Amino acid sequence: MDAIVLGGGLIGAASAFFLARRGVRTTLIERNRVGSGATVASFGNIRRSGRYLPQLPLAHRSLALWDQLATMLGRDVEFRATGHLRLIFSHEGLRAMRSFAEDARPWGLELEELTAKDVRARFPGIGPEAIAASFSPKDGSGNPRLIAPAFADAARKLGADIVENIEVEAVRKSEYGFQVETSKGVYAASMLLNATGAWGARIAGLFGETVPMVAKGPQMGVTEPLPHRVLPVVGVWAHDHGGGYLRQVERGNIVFGGGAERTDVSLDTGYAKADPARLPSQLRSLLPLFPALRNAAVIRTWSGCEGYVEDGLPVMGPSSTTAGLFHAFGFSGHGFQLGPGVGDVMAEIMEKGRTDIPMEDFRVERFQKLPRP
Ligand SMILES: Cc1cc2nc3c(=O)[nH]c(=O)nc-3n(C[C@H](O)[C@H](O)[C@H](O)COP(=O)(O)OP(=O)(O)OC[C@H]3O[C@@H](n4cnc5c(N)ncnc54)[C@H](O)[C@@H]3O)c2cc1C
Repeated sequence: MDAIVLGGGLIGAASAFFLARRGVRTTLIERNRVGSGATVASFGNIRRSGRYLPQLPLAHRSLALWDQLATMLGRDVEFRATGHLRLIFSHEGLRAMRSFAEDARPWGLELEELTAKDVRARFPGIGPEAIAASFSPKDGSGNPRLIAPAFADAARKLGADIVENIEVEAVRKSEYGFQVETSKGVYAASMLLNATGAWGARIAGLFGETVPMVAKGPQMGVTEPLPHRVLPVVGVWAHDHGGGYLRQVERGNIVFGGGAERTDVSLDTGYAKADPARLPSQLRSLLPLFPALRNAAVIRTWSGCEGYVEDGLPVMGPSSTTAGLFHAFGFSGHGFQLGPGVGDVMAEIMEKGRTDIPMEDFRVERFQKLPRP
């Protein structure tokens, strides 16, 4: 059994690792450097609260993998289960949190509800005006710079071929299987996994499949190091105060995102640029989460090109037109948490033809036009 994985972000690199671990002869083809797309730009949030409920089994499987990655990959990818604190500043936020918490319980996610007093006692300096919060103790964050290269290196050790910095000229299927024509020659295999992130709909389009998706760049930033005060990842419910989020890394810097409109990105360049004009209002929207930000200097801002599918859900599973073709793209800003789980489940589907994880809602067929009656 052999497979080409097209695209070396977290999704492609994790899939290559799990395919190789299952004994599938695997070639990962990344036109730039592994991990240099949306993955390296990510905030690094490993969060299950607020997710589409039928995605929770996959999110749980992924979280369990994040916890094992240091051993599995032989490298610390800085997964820290610091917990995820989601602040509430409005009655709408409280309603949204309670309704999600109740609906999520049968799906195996328990959120603790914290009162305003609990928040102040447990997390001093965070959300002083919050009226309540949810806390998900097992969630946390990982390092977006380390994760995809760690998966790719571990895949290489299992025998996968990792091909980077290459011009991909054509992707085709013939009676002999898939051929990927590149500046370094032709690669062929019987299976192809489309893990090309924001470019996923273009590759699907080559095989007659239409996915409504746009490319956008969320705006991120990082401050100078501050004294350690923020342990969990901090976000908000119901888009209170613009929907900002932040976390403090071990070196002390505060990484932040949200609270600013995503910019449009052209897929021809894939170049996503942070807009300095949006930074002041973005920072203002974060002050209710962590007022000490008021005196912090921002040392870097950035963005990254991510694909947003019209219905907000990713495309995962077998192609509806082409035997041997599989898709895993369009993670709409949620793919970092899911990445290891998606790699594991896609490898399982490709090698065994099935998985116990519910994947129906993510199939590419959902966009097929129904025939006229
Ligand atoms: C600014 C930002 C913040 C984010 N924050 C979070 C977060 O906090 N939590 C969360 O869960 N998710 C977050 N995400 C989303 C998350 O980073 C991604 O969903 C996740 O990393 C999975 O990415 P991917 O592998 O699908 O795509 P990518 O990392 O973009 O990888 C796709 C790769 O395919 C390559 N490629 C494209 N076309 C071709 C081709 N024809 N041939 C060969 N290679 C090709 C590209 O070069 C690219 O490297 C964020 C995204 C951005 C942009």
